[in-house]
Parts: sequence; C-alpha cells; structure tokens
Amino acid sequence: MTESSTSGAAAPPGSVRPHLVKRHRGEGQWAKGHFTPLNPNEQAKKDDDGLNVRARIENIYAHRGFDSIDGQDLRGRMRWWGLYTQRRPGIDGGKTAVLEPHELDDEYFMMRVRIDGGQLTVAQLRAIGQVSAAYARGTADVTDRQNIQLHWVRIEDVPAIWKILEAVGLQTTEACGDTPRAMLGSPVAGVAKDEVIDATPALEELKRRFVGSKEFSNLPRKFKTAVSGMQDVVHEANDVSFVGVVHPEHGPGFDVWVGGGLSTNPQFAKRLGVWVPLEEVGDVWAGICGIFRDYGYRRLRNRARLKFLVADWGAAKFREVLESEYLHRTLIDGPPPPFVPATQRDHVGVHEQKDGRYYVGFCPRVGRIDGATLGRVADLAEAVSSDRVRTTPDQKMLILDVPGDRVEWLVGELKTLDLQVRPSVFRRHTMACTGIEFCKLAIVETKALASDTIDELEKRLPDFDTPITLNVNGCPNSCARIQTADIGLKGQLVQDANGDQVEGFQVHLGGHFGADAESEDASGAGSTGSFGRKVRGLKITAAELADYVERVLRNY
Ligand code: SF4
Repeated sequence: MTESSTSGAAAPPGSVRPHLVKRHRGEGQWAKGHFTPLNPNEQAKKDDDGLNVRARIENIYAHRGFDSIDGQDLRGRMRWWGLYTQRRPGIDGGKTAVLEPHELDDEYFMMRVRIDGGQLTVAQLRAIGQVSAAYARGTADVTDRQNIQLHWVRIEDVPAIWKILEAVGLQTTEACGDTPRAMLGSPVAGVAKDEVIDATPALEELKRRFVGSKEFSNLPRKFKTAVSGMQDVVHEANDVSFVGVVHPEHGPGFDVWVGGGLSTNPQFAKRLGVWVPLEEVGDVWAGICGIFRDYGYRRLRNRARLKFLVADWGAAKFREVLESEYLHRTLIDGPPPPFVPATQRDHVGVHEQKDGRYYVGFCPRVGRIDGATLGRVADLAEAVSSDRVRTTPDQKMLILDVPGDRVEWLVGELKTLDLQVRPSVFRRHTMACTGIEFCKLAIVETKALASDTIDELEKRLPDFDTPITLNVNGCPNSCARIQTADIGLKGQLVQDANGDQVEGFQVHLGGHFGADAESEDASGAGSTGSFGRKVRGLKITAAELADYVERVLRNY
C-alpha cells in the first residue's frame, strides 16, 4: 500500500468534484461538501497553508521585525512552525476575556520544540539548552505533551534557532496549529521490562510519513496522537491512541482508542475494539486522521475536535467508516489492555531495564527547568555513558542506559540540580500549565504557585506518602489535565474574605485515569477512568491553596 493511498475519501478544496458541493452550511464537513470557510480560522487556512509561513519568516519577517508580520500569519499560521505570541507582561487575568488579541500580544514568542516520544540524544538536549541560553532568556519548560517550550523568542532569531535545532534532527514543524501535534510515546520504549511491544518503529514511521505533510496540514483543529507498548501516554485523553496489548492468536500489537480530549466538554477516548499489528499502525493512523480531516466539524471552533464526531457517531460507526472508506478492509477484533493504575505510569525513580542497565527518572519542578540545567543534564548523561534522555507526559525527565555502578552517583548529582529522583509525593505528582506568565488565555498564575505549594506541603506533611495528584491550570482549558487529578484546580477570579476579586481556583476532586467504581468490567480492563467532580461552590483563593490542600490531605 502506498503512503498516500490510505488517507481517504474526500479531497481538500481545490480538487472538489462539483456535485459534492452543497449550498447549506452543515457542520462544515468536507466529506459532505461543506467547503465554504465558516469561520476566520478556516478562511485563513484556505487562503494559505500554514506550512507556507516558514518562507515568509525566513525571507521577510526575520529581517524586517515584528511589526512587518501579517495579522493572519501572526495569530494563525506561525503556529504551524511552533510559534505563539506570548502574553504581554503586566496584564492581569481580569482583562484576558476583555482585551482584543492584539492588545494581549507581546512582541516575543513562545517556541515549542516537538519531541515525538520524548526521545532526545545528548546532542539534542545540548542544542535546546544552547538555544534557551542564547535566544530564550534561559527559559525551558517540559510540557505534559513531552515537548520543551522556550519563551522570549524574537522573530529575528527564529532562523538561527531552526538552524541549531535542525542540525541535530529536532524540529518545530506542526508543534502547534490545526495539525498532527507532537506524538506521545513511551519514554521507556525498547528498554522497559514490562512493555508489551516496542512501539518506536511505528512512531518513527508516523513522524517520517506525516509530520509536515500537506496531506494533513489543514485539519479541523489540533490532532493529538499517542503510541506506546505500555500504558504510560494518557491514551484515554488523546484523539487517537495505540496501546500495547497481546492478542490471544496474533500476539503483541495495539488496541486502538479514538476521540479522547479534556478541556471543556471532556471525553475519554473510546476503544474501536480492533487489534493492529506494528507494521499497520501508520496506515490505520492515516485513516483515522483522514476521517478527522474529512468528516471533522469545521463550522464552530469549539466543536471541531475529533471527540465531538466520535460522540455523535459512536465507536461502531467510526470503525465501519474507517474500514469501508479509508482502509478498504476489515480490521481484526482485539481485546482491551489490562488495567494499570495511573500512579504507576510516570517512570520516576530507579528502574532496571531489559538489558540489566537502569533508567533514572527525575522531577523538574512542575516541568520548569532552564537552558543551563539542560546542558548540565546532558553532561551527566554523557558521564554515565548514556546518549538517551527522555521527557515524559507528566512533565518529568529520564536518563536511560545507566550502568548499575553509576546509578547512585547520578542520583546525587541530579539532586544538586534540584532534580530529585526520590521526590516527595507532592513534587512527584504536581503538574502546572504555563499560566499567566506567558499564556494569553490565562486568568491566574500557576507555575510559581504550584512550586511554592510543593515546598509548603513538604514542610507541613513530611511523612505523607500516598500518591495524590495535584494539577494546577490557569484557565478553564485543561492543558494540565485538571479533570483527571485527585485535586484539580481550574484558574479563575474569585472573591476573597474582603469581597475583593483575586486570583483563585474552582476545585475539582476525585478525577483519575484507569478503572473506576462504575466500570462494568470488574477487572477494570479497558475502562477509562473518572472525571473529577466539580465541588459546587468550592472556590479557593491562590493564597489559600497550601492550607486547602493540607486540610484535604489531613482528612484523607
Ligand atoms: Fe494557558 Fe489555560 Fe492552557 Fe494554562 S490551561 S496553558 S492558562 S490555555
């Protein structure tokens, strides 16, 4: 089968058969002939492919500066190359929803370096550290999509940054935008003793065939992928996930899930009930992404994620369309993966590999690190003869291939950098999104608050050792997965005791991935989890956060 033959029935605008073009608006589904752009984002994508903005950055904007950037490019197409304008400093959260986008824009950018599968060599880690120090004021945040984000990037410096990154095989291509974003993969693929299958070849194929391809560079919205031979990539919350499972007749392969997504209208992914072998992941992925491109809703941005189509169709119809219109064959029925508790998925600590060496997982505080420290981590990896560093979907990092007699030395060196291998439960299980420091959608600050809260809780509850997840978000979106945390905090303005509006949070309690009490299957196999319940009326100020969490945990 050729690379393009799996991608489906409908064609993008420009090659439309006239009889398919209908006059009514529908949901903006191309496959139903609704090609007329129905909102400014769709119009901008029709006017010019987002990938084309690179030439303008290199040839015009980097030379003429920020003010020369076309408005559609600035707030749209730059994302296809991993660039967002960051929030202008000093604008408080109360103004987020009131100001026009250009009033929130700073003239600096966030640049997202995509790290599919979280896989980095020492040279790549050094290159990111070098870029961070030279062009991003030392900033570097490990995200819960395994990427590293840099801030304070000037448009004039972008070509030089690409040169450094691309020289070591890194890219920012489609790190943002309505595209196949960076694909999650197991940070311990190929080395973990308990993986069902090493998914690395599938991830490499997906990246080679589809990242930067105009076949999928105009999707209705972002498209999140996860591929792992074990359950460590939040497969329940991705648009498409391939999860390692052993078929009783066919052996190791993948169980396929579609339509997961958190944010507003959260939905856990649904199993298609199929088993896919390693060599077919690329074609099945292309079929699913093709369905999203062709049948996805483009009329309203807030209904454009795949989860809305999956909710309307159900898994059975989705599978039928995939088989009949995109793959032209029937897929093999498959079993669900066994249940693995979410707290056993993060790889923090010291773990023996299949080959007798060790991988060492450590915690940057809520994902925040800096360019100099990234360089130091690269030095440490090299000192223990490792060339493999990993980022995780929990804002953590790993060094693989550590010889047994070097483990404790490495643990000690990492600790001197405040990168703990044996952290408190608070440091290990707290995540925070970008927040008001840089994010234009934010209402409250997150990273510094979460970091201070970790310090407070470590002081106040030094012996607490139950793994409790605390996820801090700066707005109603869910970049740090509030709905699946034991304590999820959704940023908003709240009233303090004096009646003044201050930064604070709506509290959600009891969310988690994996089996839950309502699961029909007693073993929990194939179940997805439970969203945290919004506690009616329970809002806390940012200043009360540590007190509130302490109270909850003392009563736990
Ligand atoms: Fe920004 Fe909101 Fe996402 Fe946080 S959750 S990074 S504030 S959009």
